[in-house]
Amino acid sequence: MADDEVDERTAHHEAGHAVAYLASGLSIRYATIRARGGNHGRVAPPRRRRIGVTDAYVTACAGPVAEGLYLWHAADEDDRAGCEVNDFIMAAWLAGGCGDMQVFDGEREGVWDSWQDTTKTMVVERYWPAVTAIAEALLIHNTLPGRVLRELAEDSGLPLWCMAGLRR
Ligand SMILES: [Zn+2]
Repeated sequence: MADDEVDERTAHHEAGHAVAYLASGLSIRYATIRARGGNHGRVAPPRRRRIGVTDAYVTACAGPVAEGLYLWHAADEDDRAGCEVNDFIMAAWLAGGCGDMQVFDGEREGVWDSWQDTTKTMVVERYWPAVTAIAEALLIHNTLPGRVLRELAEDSGLPLWCMAGLRR
């Protein structure tokens, strides 16, 4: 895979995580596509704040789901070759290097894919303009602070009430 293709995938993956945090009313310190110690990205949640299990599942799913949707949109008919969008999301889970699947360790089989479907419908597809706006900005700047992520999300239609509880 070409480097810019890797960057596009990483940018949409991290943008998905970022939008899920914001849509869940959780603040972010920063998002990056150039995390130290690897060629993958990272979204940094606030320090010393525990998040609930629902938020943990949704924010974990949102990365692979956004990456899979990006791959799906970027694919032509030959690439799709009888696949469905969920096959592309599965490919993103399997390619993941940031341990998103580990959030579901110990859960019985079938739990994480229902969270994936919920996250896809309720967060990633619903706020896709915010995902793409953040991904495009990450491709330019590599790293964005939480304040800029909030502004991009807000300008792209993520409703203010979602973020009302955010610590500034
Ligand atoms: Zn991830």
